[in-house]
Amino acid sequence: MDIPIPPELVRILGQAGRLTVLTGAGVSQESGLRTFRDAQTGLWKQYRPEDLATSQAFERDPQLIWDWYAVRRSRAGEVQPNPGHQALVVMERRSSNFTLITQNVDGLHQRAGSARVIELHGNITRVRCSRGCGLVAAWEEIPGQLPHCPECGANLRPDVVWFGESLPRPALEAAVEASRNCQVFFSIGTSGLVQPAASLAYAAGHRGAVVVEINAEGTPLSPKADFVLLGKSGEILPELVQQTWG
Ligand code: NAD
Ligand code: ZN
Repeated sequence: MDIPIPPELVRILGQAGRLTVLTGAGVSQESGLRTFRDAQTGLWKQYRPEDLATSQAFERDPQLIWDWYAVRRSRAGEVQPNPGHQALVVMERRSSNFTLITQNVDGLHQRAGSARVIELHGNITRVRCSRGCGLVAAWEEIPGQLPHCPECGANLRPDVVWFGESLPRPALEAAVEASRNCQVFFSIGTSGLVQPAASLAYAAGHRGAVVVEINAEGTPLSPKADFVLLGKSGEILPELVQQTWG
């Protein structure tokens, strides 16, 4: 397989000290997880993810939303990190200053071995109290089809950020800081349609970072990026890492 990597990008990366990477659902596609905008299958065909991933949907029908996340969580647990996740682990180890920001909730970066991951949208493997009493726990610690908060009795919900909700402030602040202060910013496997994550690449570019997009198709970011590498992240990232640090 021959993946053309611009030599100029390899040169820039070899000299850059501060790298920041933002990933989206596309990075997990080669592990076998659906991206958000892929058609749903089976029982879930009749729903749009955008209509399930909201607090209104959870208030209306908590069992339905709980079940949908239970399916996605068990699927995420069955699949394995792919060479794209693994290449980002190598990047973290080889760079002097590296920040990985993800919109993914599947925990695959952590399972691949990335030591520090800023989770912008939470993690499907955790639950928290829907009333906001502060309880957060690993999903498997609290069994049940729609378990209740051991502290206050409210329904537990997945510890993810739903449409219309604000992002966890410490994670967002760390992400903005790392995007403003990097020399190279990677946007990988994200359609760039979900804010505020999508704005991070522009924040980096405005502050002079070289912006690199790796995606299966062009996105609204593409015309603004310094390098656009079209293809699968699980193929491009290992090649890029090999050519730069290999
Ligand atoms: P998205 O589905 O909007 O976009 C995914 C992008 O990845 C698309 O542009 C697609 O062309 C590209 N892509 C698909 N396969 C690829 C591959 N092999 N290599 C490179 N690129 C590939 O995803 P998003 O931008 O992350 O936004 C969706 C939201 O849904 C996020 O907020 C996220 O939290 C959530 N989500 C997470 C997961 C997960 O954790 N795995 C899965 C679905 C959705
Ligand atoms: Zn509670």
